[in-house]
Amino acid sequence: MIFVTHLLIGAVIDRIKGVPIGWALIGSALPDLIDKPLAMAGVFDVYHSIGHSFVSVICLGGIVVLTKYGKLIFLGWSSHIALDLFQIAINGRFTDLLFIFWPWLQSPSPLALPPGAFVFYYLGSPGFFVEIVLWVGIVTKWAQTRLLWRLPTQSFVLQ
Ligand SMILES: [Zn+2]
Repeated sequence: MIFVTHLLIGAVIDRIKGVPIGWALIGSALPDLIDKPLAMAGVFDVYHSIGHSFVSVICLGGIVVLTKYGKLIFLGWSSHIALDLFQIAINGRFTDLLFIFWPWLQSPSPLALPPGAFVFYYLGSPGFFVEIVLWVGIVTKWAQTRLLWRLPTQSFVLQ
């Protein structure tokens, strides 16, 4: 998924949980905010590494116990990884799913595109169209909620 879709899902989780601050939104951003700079700096040769590994999810599970809003960060983080796994699967890059086992297992031929080049690769893929449906559904639901909330209640009197 593209970065803004992860943020959207994090915001939806925050909205569902009734938290205005955006802890799930922060959690949904962290895997990419950690891994993309590391790959761009040449620390790792793949764009899904420590932030996308199940190891980070397990460590994050420990933080959940310690902090008040850790559960929301964990939910956002987990949603990011689940959506990345889903997108890679529907795009048919099954060996790339091994990123979840980083550093022990890695894809023999990872996509390894930097964020800008990834967007051009991604446009037109099956995952892109699923993402469009996701956006349309969420924006439609949001618009319905906003419009229904703002419409004055009218009573019709039959004459
Ligand atoms: Zn990601």
